[in-house]
Amino acid sequence: MKSAKNIVAGNWKMNGLVASLEEIEALATLIDTSAAADCDVIVCPPYTLVCSLAAMKKQKILVGAQDCHVAVSGAHTGDISALMLKDAGASHIIVGHSERRADHGETSALVHAKATAIYIEGLKAIICIGETEAERDNNQTEEVVLGQLKESVPDDATPENTVIAYEPVWAIGTGKTPTVEDVAEIHTAIRKALINRFGDVGAGFSLLYGGSVKPSNAKELMTAKNVNGALVGGASLKASDFNGIIEAYR
Ligand code: PEP
Repeated sequence: MKSAKNIVAGNWKMNGLVASLEEIEALATLIDTSAAADCDVIVCPPYTLVCSLAAMKKQKILVGAQDCHVAVSGAHTGDISALMLKDAGASHIIVGHSERRADHGETSALVHAKATAIYIEGLKAIICIGETEAERDNNQTEEVVLGQLKESVPDDATPENTVIAYEPVWAIGTGKTPTVEDVAEIHTAIRKALINRFGDVGAGFSLLYGGSVKPSNAKELMTAKNVNGALVGGASLKASDFNGIIEAYR
């Protein structure tokens, strides 16, 4: 049985200007992938920076994007396809982030279709799932998370083409985190659901935790059972913070 790869991924969200490209390249160069011998490091900048970051030959980070359309091309004003992102140099694409689900009404069915579009291009989907604060207060965390997992992840998902990111919505950008026990419990439930559905292969999917990960809590959160890394928002915008998180895998 192949064990899951450790991954630390940064989601820059709507931050970063081409006008500040030098600063951004310096930030990418400062990200010290050697800090973690056994960990892939992915940076997902806004679309406008994918090409420039991917073209930086010196750095060892992988470059991802934050969303894509289900179609390859066509009359979809304002959208971008997985093929275009592959063409720009991306290897990974985040789909189903709670900000997309909330701000753009994205459903798990749409996330599923986007993941399929990503597989067709030979790229990797980082599929996000997570409960809201109200759902957590209603003791619905497992039901919601496993429901999103089932509906968002296509049948042809494999550990090679898919990463799962558990991100409780109430922990994103708030400074609040679940306890390590809570993270371990839900990640173990996700792992079990993947093994039930995909057999032994289910043990090989990387399961990332996301939501207010910082250098000060990374070590503890990253060593929780069935956690194979982090999806990091705010703390990925500063090299010293992001490196502090990557160091959890030293
Ligand atoms: C995110 O948006 O994916 C995220 C985890 O954000 P933050 O680390 O800022 O909570």
